[in-house]
Amino acid sequence: MRFETKAIHRGQDPEPATGAVVVPIYATSTYAQSAPGKHAGYEYSRTDNPTRTALQTALGELEGVGEGSGGGGVATASGMAAVALCGYLLGAGDHVLLPDDAYGGTFRFFARVLGEQGFEWSVARPTEPDSVAAAIRPTTRLVWLETPSNPLLRVADITRLAAIAHDAGALLVVDNTFATPYLQRPLEFGADIVLHSTTKYLGGHSDVVGGALVTADRELHERLRFLQNAAGPVPGPFDAWLVLRGIKTLAVRMERHCANAAAIAEYLLADDRVAEVMYPGLASHPDHVLAGRQMDAFGGMVSFRPRGGRAAAHRLAEQTEVFFLAESLGGVESLIEIPAAMTHQSVVGTPLEVPDDLVRLSVGIEHVDDLIEDLDRALG
Ligand SMILES: *Cc1c(COP(=O)(O)O)cnc(C)c1O
Repeated sequence: MRFETKAIHRGQDPEPATGAVVVPIYATSTYAQSAPGKHAGYEYSRTDNPTRTALQTALGELEGVGEGSGGGGVATASGMAAVALCGYLLGAGDHVLLPDDAYGGTFRFFARVLGEQGFEWSVARPTEPDSVAAAIRPTTRLVWLETPSNPLLRVADITRLAAIAHDAGALLVVDNTFATPYLQRPLEFGADIVLHSTTKYLGGHSDVVGGALVTADRELHERLRFLQNAAGPVPGPFDAWLVLRGIKTLAVRMERHCANAAAIAEYLLADDRVAEVMYPGLASHPDHVLAGRQMDAFGGMVSFRPRGGRAAAHRLAEQTEVFFLAESLGGVESLIEIPAAMTHQSVVGTPLEVPDDLVRLSVGIEHVDDLIEDLDRALG
């Protein structure tokens, strides 16, 4: 079965009692048992809920992990809850190697939460794999990667970084939020765990916060399922249902996100009011060839620096009308933001600091001419 079909069918058979073609929202915390300990697979909704089970099956399938293979998806209450579950894989004294360009919240969690509890962390540049290899310590347990990265949209070689992590006995975690499994399946390149903020493209409509981990490894999957239940950061059934509904249209949405983003990147590149454009689909992007090998298309995120520095960037972000000035990404509506003042405030003054004149676009699925006209007007 191909991706588009799996997204609509895997984990989503008609409900047996009524034939409902949509997985119901099982709003229940507990399940009646026929005898003590005897039940049909569900006992308590922190442990398992049928709406969440359907979502977890679908997530696994989209990342290439078949139902019944032993691996699979683990849905969480947010992307950060998925990051935190990975944190529970660390033992006392363990080290995490973080990328130098990543979601600010991920950095904040490892540096300011686990770091303050005595776990070790440091930062390397995944686009220079030798620097990652050099930064590995005997205690390195997790190598973290975001590709394409946030907000600079650099692309790193998953195959090489997986080999480096595995040589050191560490796991490679790839945050696949920007690419989505429609464009990139990191497990195929050797990653051990894929992470998603399902708040973004998988949900796709800016109406839910959620997260997920996916692994093809049976033991690791069992451990993550154990941690999900033991720590408890699970999505409620309505949130799981919203993400499941979003996933059904992921393929068609991503096609339009990618086409619109590519057109906007070309438009910005040609405009002399713009100093620099970052989009992996541009031939001028430093990782363009690698991105072409690793991804099926180049995604819906575009970053750029207008001429005129921070003031020009802020003015632009305040003047768009179709692009809403807002954090987050991956929804059908276009968003504009200033990472240094918004999503990446928590990394100011750290090795992950981003330029203060950087503008990040989450290009939506509106008509591309309306988006380009909006930017053209706002660039002034
Ligand atoms: C948003 C985001 C997260 C965190 O997810 P939440 O759902 O906001 O908790 C993690 N990684 C990336 C790349 C993100 O964009």
